[in-house]
Amino acid sequence: MTDEYLFISDCHLDTSRPEITTNLLNFIDKRASSAQILYILGDLFEIWLGDDDPVPGFSEIIDSLSHLSKTTKTYFLAGNRDFLLGDGMAKRAGFEIISEPVSLNLGGQRVVLLHGDVLCTDDHDYQAFRSQVRNPDWQSSFLAKPLLERQQIGAGLRADSIAAMLQKTVEIMDVNLTTVESWFDQHEAEVMIHGHTHRPGIHRYKQRSRTRYVLGDWNPLPSYLSWSSPVGFELHDSRVATYP
Ligand code: MN
Repeated sequence: MTDEYLFISDCHLDTSRPEITTNLLNFIDKRASSAQILYILGDLFEIWLGDDDPVPGFSEIIDSLSHLSKTTKTYFLAGNRDFLLGDGMAKRAGFEIISEPVSLNLGGQRVVLLHGDVLCTDDHDYQAFRSQVRNPDWQSSFLAKPLLERQQIGAGLRADSIAAMLQKTVEIMDVNLTTVESWFDQHEAEVMIHGHTHRPGIHRYKQRSRTRYVLGDWNPLPSYLSWSSPVGFELHDSRVATYP
């Protein structure tokens, strides 16, 4: 057991891409099990339509996460695809649901964690959709629909604005830098960690001594950020770009 923290996001687990599930099972077993804390920063699943969905293809992952929780404290922060994941699933997978933004202190640095979609403020249609679907009343009425109807909406089989937005690849739009700056200011953070955009990278803003780590998606290879003392942060992703 080490003092290591690990951060992942955007696995987009989907039964049509079993290699991602295999990579995540390996990561949990070989890497995460020796860490102190694992943060899952959203879009673990390609889509989550409610905890009553039996999702038979994911039972191995859920069992593996549950087993992991015996050694490694695991937190889940929702993304734009799995924001309907609730307490029932959290209990099965042994993780704790946290809501963004999350602030923590690592080695004396103030860190803020987000999924990242709130930073993409240039996508006005998406932000309007987000306010709608993050409303608890909207969520309870959606979850009250029969599972079959939710599955049809999720699969884009209905002419429905929700179906249309769920099918749209919102990751195409990058973050708005003014929005990024205001989140840093608001949380007095020196480090920001997020995913969502599928643009793994390290952005250093030298004048303000700030760093933004962007986690990559897991298609096709794993991507994760680690922090341990005295090493600090390391982004493990073969596609990583560093700015400047
Ligand atoms: Mn996302």
